[in-house]
Amino acid sequence: MPRQFFVGGNFKMNGVTSTIKSIVSNLNNSKRDPNTEVVVAPPALYLALVRELADPSVGVAAQNVYDKPNGAFTGELSVEQLKDAKIDWAIVGHSERRVLLREDDDFVARKTKAAIDGGLSVILCIGESLEEREATKTIEVVTRQLNAVAKLVSEEQWSKIVIAYEPIWAIGTGKVATTTQAQEVHAAIRKWLGETISAKVADETRILYGGSVSDGNCKDLAKEKDIDGFLVGGASLKPAFVDIINARL
Ligand code: PGA
Repeated sequence: MPRQFFVGGNFKMNGVTSTIKSIVSNLNNSKRDPNTEVVVAPPALYLALVRELADPSVGVAAQNVYDKPNGAFTGELSVEQLKDAKIDWAIVGHSERRVLLREDDDFVARKTKAAIDGGLSVILCIGESLEEREATKTIEVVTRQLNAVAKLVSEEQWSKIVIAYEPIWAIGTGKVATTTQAQEVHAAIRKWLGETISAKVADETRILYGGSVSDGNCKDLAKEKDIDGFLVGGASLKPAFVDIINARL
């Protein structure tokens, strides 16, 4: 079975009720490739609104989730609360949280495990900084990030994970990885999955590219054999998001 193409839209901390409503209505009324799975991640405050307004074929993701079931954790959201609000996905380990909020590999792994145990699917973000790339540490960094998750989740649970490879130097910078650079890392991630988890998981896991994806560069990236979709930031707020969803048409 070919892996289903997947396009996620990460709104980050952007939008208010009026703009988010218009993004969703644009998406609902667009002609979207029925073979692409689409998931959008609005700010937490708007999750319920987006779930209510978005076409049922569009999935909704939280941008973050906590690893504990409930309790005195000011400002956090639990897996149960997301499920209760009919949210089926969570983005975990985004580099903005890893860097700005100092989330480490183990914390990201614990959140991934808690989310899957509680019935959510996870967009697991990994990726290296410019410094790490220049020191040829890219594969070492992404496999370290993945190994932390592999320690906690079972082989079956990998079917609930979509990996998003997002080189930090390409996020929000307009500096997209070349198709060769992206394919090279995606192939290495798939090889790691085969060696560390199983051939089945390597074959079935979607590996997305993220970092300055646009309607202009998505078609070339989508042709690469190990690129199974995108996690889109800035462009997911614009009508061009639909062109990215349709990158394989
Ligand atoms: P960008 O963000 O598309 O704005 O570069 C991607 C992401 O951070 O997921």
